[in-house]
Amino acid sequence: MIVVMKPGATDAQIQNMVRRVEEMGLKAHVIVGTERTVIAAVGEKRNGEREKLESYDEVEKVVPILAPYKVASRELKPQPTCVEVGSLTIVAGHIGVIAGTCSVESEAQIMESARKVKAAGATALRGGAFKPRTSPYSFQGMKEEGLKLLAAARDATGLAIVTEVMAPEQVPLVEKYADVLQIGARNMQNYNLLQAVGETRKAVLLKRGPAATMEEFLLAAEYILDQGNKDVMLCERGIRTFESHTRFTLPLASVTYLHQKTHLPVVIDPSHGTGIASLVPDMCCAAVACKADGLIVEVHPDPHHAISDGAQSLTPEVFADTMQQCRKVAAALGLTM
Ligand code: PEP
Ligand code: MN
Repeated sequence: MIVVMKPGATDAQIQNMVRRVEEMGLKAHVIVGTERTVIAAVGEKRNGEREKLESYDEVEKVVPILAPYKVASRELKPQPTCVEVGSLTIVAGHIGVIAGTCSVESEAQIMESARKVKAAGATALRGGAFKPRTSPYSFQGMKEEGLKLLAAARDATGLAIVTEVMAPEQVPLVEKYADVLQIGARNMQNYNLLQAVGETRKAVLLKRGPAATMEEFLLAAEYILDQGNKDVMLCERGIRTFESHTRFTLPLASVTYLHQKTHLPVVIDPSHGTGIASLVPDMCCAAVACKADGLIVEVHPDPHHAISDGAQSLTPEVFADTMQQCRKVAAALGLTM
């Protein structure tokens, strides 16, 4: 339910309503809008709650949230959510760009990547220190050593760090170094992990599972929001279909659909979405054209020798050219980048 407070409701009245909601065994999420405050009351539904809450003078109305995901829904919060972490801003009307290598491989590799993606216009650095690999025999990442190199790259360039956390027990370690915790596609429905990152106050980049529906994707985001972490970004990274000419199929309509259903920002990953470097620049432009709030792009100083995902990684030169093209598309639509 959404408890809509009257304009001018005092803080004390809002806190009082939060207590009433909690006494009903529901969780209260307060959303302060420009004109009025609303309180999302979420949890198991019982009879008579709506009428009880509506009986307070300071309450304008109480309306049900129809979507199965509650805190993520646009019904609750029509204004888009802005995620701001250091150098990275992801919000409607402005495209934030996260770029860098698939994995952190060495100090020289991550430093060169950081400097070059920054020069091309990236506003955050990506790099996996814990890598979810299809085969147990593939490189699994540099782990804490990799996190330290990412932190050093942030010190050198000022770029915010986006890196994956694969298990709840890794959260304390990864959050010590990262600015944004990435939840990988394979972990989208790892509910213990979603709750663990939800308990932190670090921004989260939640990747869509390759076989997840939009509703499952939004309910996964709901697990994080339900723990009180408001800084969630949704990442469309492609889904598994019958098609095999690309690694995954990248549905760009997800951007518009998600913008209609949720206030959370949407980031497009054309690298995993296609798996083929030559397709990535145009998909970056297309993502900007459909008003994605951000891009996450794999860029490697020497893609042929990358330990992971070289085939989908852009060279720094191609990335710089892609950013120039994207800026033109953005400007044509009145967006900033
Ligand atoms: C990655 O970002 O390198 C990655 C493993 O992505 P995904 O979880 O989308 O496969
Ligand atoms: Mn990758």
